[in-house]
Amino acid sequence: MLSYQHLYHAGNLADVHKHALLAWMLDYLTRKDKPLSYLESHAGRGLYDLAAPEAVKTGEAAQGVERLARAFAPDHPYRRALDTTRARHGRRAYPGSPLIAATLLRATDTIHLAERHPREHAALAEAMLPYPARVHHADGFSRIRELTPPTPRRGLLLIDPSYETTADYDGMARFVAQIARKWNVGILALWYPILETPRHLGMVTALAAACPEALRHEVRFPPAREGHRMVGSGLFVVNPPWGLAEETTRLDVLFGTLAR
Ligand code: SAM
Repeated sequence: MLSYQHLYHAGNLADVHKHALLAWMLDYLTRKDKPLSYLESHAGRGLYDLAAPEAVKTGEAAQGVERLARAFAPDHPYRRALDTTRARHGRRAYPGSPLIAATLLRATDTIHLAERHPREHAALAEAMLPYPARVHHADGFSRIRELTPPTPRRGLLLIDPSYETTADYDGMARFVAQIARKWNVGILALWYPILETPRHLGMVTALAAACPEALRHEVRFPPAREGHRMVGSGLFVVNPPWGLAEETTRLDVLFGTLAR
């Protein structure tokens, strides 16, 4: 069993990058009346307590969401999801991607979430109880292969692995290309870490060759603490919605302020 727990990292700068773009895309999709599907292969526990010892120990949320939340206007979908979650669960609560989706989507939309770790899956199932989401205790790669193309066909898949094994990097371009063929209208968003040693480069080169029209957005930031290897965050989006490029430019400005 792998040991990654997102509670140590929830609300860090990479989460702010990934969740802000995810929230923006979901909000964009809900501007049309038509229902949509939201799928996640690596869902995590959905709801995080930033006052928990694990989160306090790393201090990553303090440098991430606690520092940047107010840089988003109150009507930005990321702020809306954050504020709604805090109004319901307390001021140190943080919404993972499943809860961001559940908060922004409508009763007519369909949500499928896969999580393989038994404890994270149990916490996710509890966090999603108030919402009409289907929570799968399963390997996300195989479950997404089974679920695609989904009904309704409009929609978005978030792939957010923990990159604990080289398999997460090595098989990714093939997986994304396969899902893009099966679900040619789906928006496929893959998150990846940018480490000091650029482990992601081979994967991203293969992804760009397989999906040349995709949008790739990366931000850089100072490491969370001395010796911490993550120095940036990337999102690779197949079939990016119209206007996403402008939103990434706004994030470039925001993350640019961190270097100063
Ligand atoms: N997407 C979440 C968010 O933004 O709130 C965070 C997900 S976290 C980075 C990655 C999660 O994937 C962990 O909870 C881990 O247990 C889970 N995981 C790892 N391998 C998996 C697999 N093959 N299938 C499904 N879940 C997996």
